[in-house]
Amino acid sequence: MESWLSTHLYHEDLSVTAQVLDGRAISNQIKEELAVEVAEFIRNNAIVPCLAAVLVGDDPASQVYVRNKRRSCEKVGIDSQLHTLGADTSEEELLELTTSLNKSNEVHGILIQLPLPSQINTTRVLDAVNPWKDVDAFHAENVGRIVQGRPRFLPCTPHGIQQILHRCDCPLQGKHVVIVGRSDIVGKPLAMMLVQRNSPLGASAANASVTVCHSHTADLAAITREADVLVAAVGQPELIRREMVKPGATVIDVGINRTTDGKLVGDVDFAGVCEVAAQITPVPGGVGPLTIAMLLRNTLTAAELQLA
Ligand code: NDP
Repeated sequence: MESWLSTHLYHEDLSVTAQVLDGRAISNQIKEELAVEVAEFIRNNAIVPCLAAVLVGDDPASQVYVRNKRRSCEKVGIDSQLHTLGADTSEEELLELTTSLNKSNEVHGILIQLPLPSQINTTRVLDAVNPWKDVDAFHAENVGRIVQGRPRFLPCTPHGIQQILHRCDCPLQGKHVVIVGRSDIVGKPLAMMLVQRNSPLGASAANASVTVCHSHTADLAAITREADVLVAAVGQPELIRREMVKPGATVIDVGINRTTDGKLVGDVDFAGVCEVAAQITPVPGGVGPLTIAMLLRNTLTAAELQLA
């Protein structure tokens, strides 16, 4: 289906190749919807939802991510705070800041930008975030709720992927979804969400049969070729090649890799896979913009939950 959320690519002989799913357009659509909901929330409650971002150290990529997240907050009417700590910050200092943000009535969502410097135990810090303010859905309580099919917050990147598929008319019910990558941020929670009987987007956005692959998977290509929907969340430039994809599959590329000449590429060989896939997300401009949109969604949800 052609829509303003996607475009088709063409072969030189003008036959159609994959439909490119436009993550920026989908993200903008969601942000427009959110802006309306945020304005209504503020009108009804005289409270402005607020996201507190915590940035430790001077990793340039993290600085860009946090800046983009704060800009997006502003666009939809959500307040944001930035708490910057030096690269030599101790775990205790970060835990103290986390406790004060947990207690603050002004703050509804807390984002601890990862990665943290090596002297800090990331799990201990993420465990210290108030689960009601855990807009990344990294806290064990929130992960457990996702597994049990009664989520409080949906994790941002997996939810973004589910939104792309839903809004581009790719139902998952009955489909074989293969996820390459089993991280706590993308692969595992996505598998848990897609295998549920239902989802906030309806049963057709869940009920998939899910296979999760990782670095010890034997004959990866044989499994990926079975996928109706293939999600690559690995962090290996262009690992997924044309011959690993079933003709007509939908391919979601989560990877963000920088090549030696500074180019951003995904985990999928875009040009090659476009020749066989029916739908594909590009890098950049695919999953990335959705991750931010879903963070904003969770911040509004957090503010709503804290009112109740
Ligand atoms: P992790 O490094 O935490 O996980 C990578 C996963 O890939 C692991 O499960 C690993 O297996 C698996 N893997 C590694 N090599 C292979 C291989 N050759 N074959 C099969 N599986 C393999 O990464 P993340 O999940 O955090 O991120 C993945 C990518 O997605 C990165 O490029 C990251 O930058 C990007 N990303 C993008 C986001 C966005 O918003 N677009 C958000 C989050 C991440 P094992 O467990 O055995 O080690």
